[in-house]
Amino acid sequence: LKRAKRTDRIEIYEPEAARLVDNRFGLETELRHAIEDDRLRLDFQPLVEFATGAVAGFEALARWTNGDGQLVSPSEFIPVAEDSGLIVPLGQWAIGKAAEVLADWDRQNGGERVDCYFSVNVSAIQLVRDDIAQAVRSALETHKIGGERLMIELTESAIIADPDLAMSVLSKIKALHARIAMDDFGTGYSNLAYLQRLPLDVLKIDRSFVEHMVDDREKVAIVRTIQSLAETLGMRTTAEGVETADQARLLSALGCDFGQGFLFARPMDSISALEFWRQSRTKPIF
Ligand code: C2E
Ligand code: MG
Ligand code: MG
Ligand code: MG
Repeated sequence: LKRAKRTDRIEIYEPEAARLVDNRFGLETELRHAIEDDRLRLDFQPLVEFATGAVAGFEALARWTNGDGQLVSPSEFIPVAEDSGLIVPLGQWAIGKAAEVLADWDRQNGGERVDCYFSVNVSAIQLVRDDIAQAVRSALETHKIGGERLMIELTESAIIADPDLAMSVLSKIKALHARIAMDDFGTGYSNLAYLQRLPLDVLKIDRSFVEHMVDDREKVAIVRTIQSLAETLGMRTTAEGVETADQARLLSALGCDFGQGFLFARPMDSISALEFWRQSRTKPIF
């Protein structure tokens, strides 16, 4: 009886495990080709300054439409890219593409510099395996744009993995005049001593604190604490996931500098984003 049961388990679980591994491998192969054939895209979501209602910049978010014409979410393909090492070419592509689009925007703007920056996500794994500063430098040189037009978003795990390395990479990025934001702040395990030492420009307050903050005093207290920490350290703040006008007013009253979320706009393609930027110049977003 025992043996029969065992066989049962093997028959049930093996094909399932094989299917999962297969799927993952298929996804990886497809993603590799998508990167090689330049079939990934960047969408752009505005970062709005609360004080003026102006668009200060855009976050660049990777988008992938697979061979079946289906949009695969970054929360699905970024982990695959990280496990397979594909995150290095993907991250390089994103930095280069962001610089390329910015240079293109300037040309479309009659050669006049479009006054905004792009904020590009970089994985913790890429920070360790690749030379991000070199990728930024070469993107700026190739597309002849100033370093102040790029911001790099890193999560807390990137710093924790290797603080000394992080410090040296961040310093090199700053030397190019590019800026650095700590993404999803408050969800990791930041060592506050590192926070003080690292040359960070922006803390991005994670969406989980913004969500329901209007009727949750504890969340308001957390946002207030992050805001005061940022002010003490000379950093600015961006609130993620701003979905309602009440949240925006409250964040603004707490001193938060920038907001990003569906209230202002969803991520959109580069053509719509440039149009959004143009319109924001005549009519403030907030
Ligand atoms: P993230 O960097 O925290 O980006 C913000 C995410 O929140 C985006 O999801 C955006 O669409 C979503 N979002 C923005 N406003 C709202 C809102 O008001 N409500 C809600 N519910 N969501 C909002 P997305 O584009 O699916 O990206 C997910 C994550 O994937 C990003 O989180 C980032 O960690 C990662 N990612 C995206 N593109 C790249 C990339 O090029 N490289 C790397 N390494 N990671 C990327
Ligand atoms: Mg981000
Ligand atoms: Mg974020
Ligand atoms: Mg987040």
